[in-house]
Formats: sequence, structure tokens, C-alpha cells
Amino acid sequence: GPSSDCLFCRVVAGEIAPDVVRETDRTLAFRDISPQAPTHVLVVPRDHHPTIGALTAADPGLAAELLAAAQAVAEQEGLATAGSPEPGWRLVVNSGPDGGQTVHHVHLHVLGGRGLTWPPG
Ligand code: 5GP
Ligand code: ZN
Repeated sequence: GPSSDCLFCRVVAGEIAPDVVRETDRTLAFRDISPQAPTHVLVVPRDHHPTIGALTAADPGLAAELLAAAQAVAEQEGLATAGSPEPGWRLVVNSGPDGGQTVHHVHLHVLGGRGLTWPPG
């Protein structure tokens, strides 16, 4: 099943020790092992869903919880407040081959702590 084959299922199960930033009953946020910015946190659902599209179709409430968790991480990391995106941050969800997704357990990237360029390439 997915929990033995999937890297982030193994993180959620505690088989790989993550640097945890925030957790709820249904979500887990931990630092990326190869940070691309001073703050680079991954927010995942504890349940296995391969992509943002699969998650949104199967459990839209959980997709909304994941978005709220990303906002809470941004606030916790000092990148935003509830009322203002200052100094600012970026939310990225890579999906599929052209999107550059490499881990097939949906995850939101919370990036910030420096000026980020656009377009991302
Ligand atoms: P994707 O390219 O699928 O959107 O992002 C996968 C992310 O997972 C990458 O940013 C990569 O650095 C991160 N990653 C891969 N393996 C591990 C790991 O074992 N632990 C953590 N914390 N991050 C990982
Ligand atoms: Zn998984």
C-alpha cells in the first residue's frame, strides 16, 4: 500500500524523523530537506493522496485544511499575519511531470524569507 512505498507516508508514520513546524489531526508541516529559501516548509495531509487534484476530488474539506495550515505556517514563520501578506511568501504545489512533482503524496511548499522571482521557470 501507499504507506510503505510513499516517502511522505513514511514521514507521517514517523519512520523518517521530520523537522516538524506544525501539526494538526489531519496535517503535518515539516522543513524541506533541500531548502530553496530561508523558509521552505512542506505541508502534507496525513492521508495519502497523490496530487492536489486527487485530494480536492476525494476530500475537499481536507484540501481547505491544507491551505489553512499553509497560511498558519507562513504566520508562524513571520512571513505574514492574518491581515497582511508582509513581508510576503509563496505557495507552490507541483503537479504531474510538467509541474515538476517528484514525491507523489500531495504537498504544499511554503517559501519565503527572501525576495522570490517570477516567473519561476
Ligand atoms: P516536489 O518536487 O515533489 O514538489 O517536491 C518534493 C520536495 O520534497 C523537494 O523539495 C525535496 O527537497 C523534498 N524532499 C525529498 N525527500 C525528502 C525527505 O526525505 N525529507 C524532507 N524533509 N524533504 C524531502
Ligand atoms: Zn503517501
